[in-house]
Amino acid sequence: MGEFDLIRRFFAPLAERRGHPDLLLAIGDDCAIERITPDHDLVFSIDTQVEGVHFPHRYAPRRIAGRALAAATSDLAAMGATPVCFTLALTLPQAEPAWLSDFAKGLAETADRFGLALAGGDTTRGPLSITIQVHGTVARGRALRRSGATPGDIVAVSGTLGDAGAALDYLDVPSPDPLEDALLARYHSPVPRLELGQALAGVASSAIDISDGLASDLGHILEASGVGASVDTGRIPLSDALKQLKGANALQLALHAGDDYELCVTIPGQDWQNLPGFVREQLTAIGRIEEGAGLRLSGVNGCEDDSSRGYDHFGKDL
Ligand SMILES: [Mg+2]
Repeated sequence: MGEFDLIRRFFAPLAERRGHPDLLLAIGDDCAIERITPDHDLVFSIDTQVEGVHFPHRYAPRRIAGRALAAATSDLAAMGATPVCFTLALTLPQAEPAWLSDFAKGLAETADRFGLALAGGDTTRGPLSITIQVHGTVARGRALRRSGATPGDIVAVSGTLGDAGAALDYLDVPSPDPLEDALLARYHSPVPRLELGQALAGVASSAIDISDGLASDLGHILEASGVGASVDTGRIPLSDALKQLKGANALQLALHAGDDYELCVTIPGQDWQNLPGFVREQLTAIGRIEEGAGLRLSGVNGCEDDSSRGYDHFGKDL
């Protein structure tokens, strides 16, 4: 199958199924055209996932597509943006129709779920890898950054942490039990916190999505903001499945394992009380921003500060 046949058959339908009023032209020309209204800023981010590094060998194509698009979209959530469109660069060992059909299905489901239109792309022959660039918009000047955390701010995270990292141990289990399944769902189908990010745009003083582990990603906020933080590890939200399956290791996974795609945000104390109910429900306060640089961990296990560890993109193979 040639490149143009492949695009026509599997990807052009995706561009046509969901329009976005600001995406004026999608697949079929030299460039896509996106209109940015004067009262909005464009935010964009690119993410590459490589077989054997970011997802296992022989991983279901539907899941490869879903995870890659969700991971890229999570960066939009971290900026408080509303998704508009994405471009896809797909490198494939061979153009296998059944594989491509399943991949396109996963891409379509995920794109629909997060409100993204496919704007264009490129396909090449080579070792399997997926690169996705996402575009989103945010009201002018209100995009969340890593750099605004101020001493006294509350550090909060969404959801529960560590589940996706723990799931790596169960990827090859032939018939996972319900607890293992709960963790695997977090790995296979991450859900970027888009609504939460949007609600916090202009409210949170800083934000990041947790892709490499809480310690590492909160560390990025601290560095960009020129501050430090203390975190009570006993307050870090852990799922029942994680606690039951991983026991004493649950906290380490929450601190240092990646792929959760929850948000870590800082919020000025006076604004914390006034957050809308649906925002508060998604957040757990785990610590405070302080003046002295570095991340200080305290709590049940009396953890030492080893915030430098995180997911190392060059350090392990799946
Ligand atoms: Mg990110």
